[in-house]
Amino acid sequence: MTELSCDVRYLKGIGQQRADALSRLGIYTLRDLICFFPRTYEDRTKFSLISDIRHGDAVCVRATVANDPALSRIKKGLELVKLRIADDSGSIDVTYFNQSYVRQQLQKGKTYIFFGKITIEGQRRTMANPIFEPEDSPHLLTGCIVPVYRLSSGVSQKVLISAIRRGLEECSFELPDALPDSVAEKAQLCKAPYAFENIHFPTDLKALELARRRLIFEELFVLSLALARIKERRTVKSGIVVSSPRFERFFSGLPFIVTNAQKRAINECAADMCSGSAMNRLIQGDVGSGKTLVAAACIWSAYEGGLQSAFMAPTEILANQHYKTLSEILSPFGVKVLKLTGSMTAKQKRETLSLLKEGKADLVVGTHALLNDSVEFSNLALVITDEQHRFGVNQRAALAAKGESPHTLVMSATPIPRTLALMIYGDLDVSIIDELPPGRQKVDTFVVGENMRGRINNFIRKLSAEGRQIFIVCPAIDEGEERPQNIKTAKEYAKELQSRVFPELRVGCIHGRMKPAERDEIMQSFADGGLDILVSTTVIEVGVDVPNAALIVVENAERFGLSQLHQLRGRVGRGSHKSYCVLFSDSDNEISKSRLKVLEQTSDGFKISEEDLKLRGPGDFFGSRQHGLPETRIADLCTDMRILQDAQQAARELLKEDPELTNPENARLRKRIDEMFADKGERLN
Ligand code: ADP
Ligand code: MG
Repeated sequence: MTELSCDVRYLKGIGQQRADALSRLGIYTLRDLICFFPRTYEDRTKFSLISDIRHGDAVCVRATVANDPALSRIKKGLELVKLRIADDSGSIDVTYFNQSYVRQQLQKGKTYIFFGKITIEGQRRTMANPIFEPEDSPHLLTGCIVPVYRLSSGVSQKVLISAIRRGLEECSFELPDALPDSVAEKAQLCKAPYAFENIHFPTDLKALELARRRLIFEELFVLSLALARIKERRTVKSGIVVSSPRFERFFSGLPFIVTNAQKRAINECAADMCSGSAMNRLIQGDVGSGKTLVAAACIWSAYEGGLQSAFMAPTEILANQHYKTLSEILSPFGVKVLKLTGSMTAKQKRETLSLLKEGKADLVVGTHALLNDSVEFSNLALVITDEQHRFGVNQRAALAAKGESPHTLVMSATPIPRTLALMIYGDLDVSIIDELPPGRQKVDTFVVGENMRGRINNFIRKLSAEGRQIFIVCPAIDEGEERPQNIKTAKEYAKELQSRVFPELRVGCIHGRMKPAERDEIMQSFADGGLDILVSTTVIEVGVDVPNAALIVVENAERFGLSQLHQLRGRVGRGSHKSYCVLFSDSDNEISKSRLKVLEQTSDGFKISEEDLKLRGPGDFFGSRQHGLPETRIADLCTDMRILQDAQQAARELLKEDPELTNPENARLRKRIDEMFADKGERLN
């Protein structure tokens, strides 16, 4: 029996040179070797009679070598070995390029299994460089589903396959297996030996599926437990106890009925805030799901406890909007709300600062200006940040540092599946608002091509004649940018629309390269009805409220992510007017077209982000910025969502029974997790 930690060099057939080559693939030990999972598989299970093969088929044939393989040197650096193989039904001319050693391996009169792609020209069948194995030896390369591994120089598929074959035999009694039997049984997973055998050398596709499920589950299960432990350690930080007030009093003062999802989120926050530990919670909810109200309820409960709150928004215009909304909700309860933004006069700022410091105000709503050293609080107990992807962890922390470990609440406008949120925001607890307030109208969405341009322009005229406003979003700012042909740019397109298409309407333009003050001014003018059409880049993505806007047109829609388009669509349908979203795309690419169709069919932001993640992968979805998803060997966090959910559920159940993993049954699991921490320290994500 061999230890998993044994160096691969000690495996039969692997010398120093191969070991060095394997190390370039990150394979040092026996464990690394057997956990080096295939990138994909090639199905070589199909056998055929030579006469039945069609041109272009890749199949196995059982054939006998009919003549002595002949070697010829065409020119320097090109050697050919030619031979003919045959079965009862016909023959194939086989050529090997620069593999002269096959001459020794293939013997006239002996039968082999050949696998390769057939070319048929007239009566002649040929095969180049087919893979072969003697008919009577064990088959690793033919007649089976063959693993395809990632390679590096000095390591061929063949070398890896035989090394892994040997590796599996060496450690068949000591496979890496951290899953307690009870967990494996409950989740109906196959056993580790079966999983390792079939992930590398599947007997059939069904077996492969079982093996994959088991290994993915195990990986995600261990990861979930590890993340849970990080959370455990973190919550030791004590927080101010904010005892939960009776929220009914708050709710009954509101002009609408709070949704169940909002109530659930509020209760989760309230439980955190009175727990004695500092709250660290993310509120996820679709556009318009009413996240602000959850924030307001938390602020109110802090206020009831005589404590202050701070609310930070990414732009001045959003800060103004939140200031207005929060004042409307909270002032009737006696909460004193202040504002702090860059554009306020020095005098106004001074006044705000002193009220905050003296504890004469209960809530301040502002921008980054809140991070300034001059901002001091008397008893800051709650810090809320909106649209969290615009703020770094450090900024959140900087604001929190103005209190004594205040509770923090982060609100995200890009909903992602809970399972993923748990992975990405390892340090945050997650509440999800998965229900929209009643009566929310659906924004009718259409994916159209250039042939609809005239009709859409007429529609724009009709809507604005009715007094509605229109957003038009372009993927680029101006001509100066490097971009493919036919991409609409906000500046030029706005000019063109104003001068040639809609001279009778008032067209404005905003983009990310404008000064924030200038941008806010134009945005404000649009919000106040001073413009009919606002052409922009995605700067309007963030939640600005213009209830009178009833149509959003997105140009070159294929260039946006689905979640981003969904966010953009959320800019309309915020008032009482029937609203529309038109996505222009003349992409020939069928995939990107069917991708866009998802938006016609659903308005569920969670579903949309799931689709988006599946199609684009986490790298693209979250932007070039580090997405914070932990690295995995076999699981794909975005496509293996179902298994992820099961694994997280199983992890929660196990921790409930055995929080410290001290049961003997869980010893291997504990060891695996400890190893993970030893490797990566606390920085799992
Ligand atoms: P978001 O989650 O996108 O930040 P908001 O908090 O801005 O959503 O809420 C969107 C709109 O819905 C606001 O006008 C708000 O007043 C309203 N709203 C919030 N909760 C409810 C509710 N329970 N019933 C009806 N309207 C609500
Ligand atoms: Mg919002």
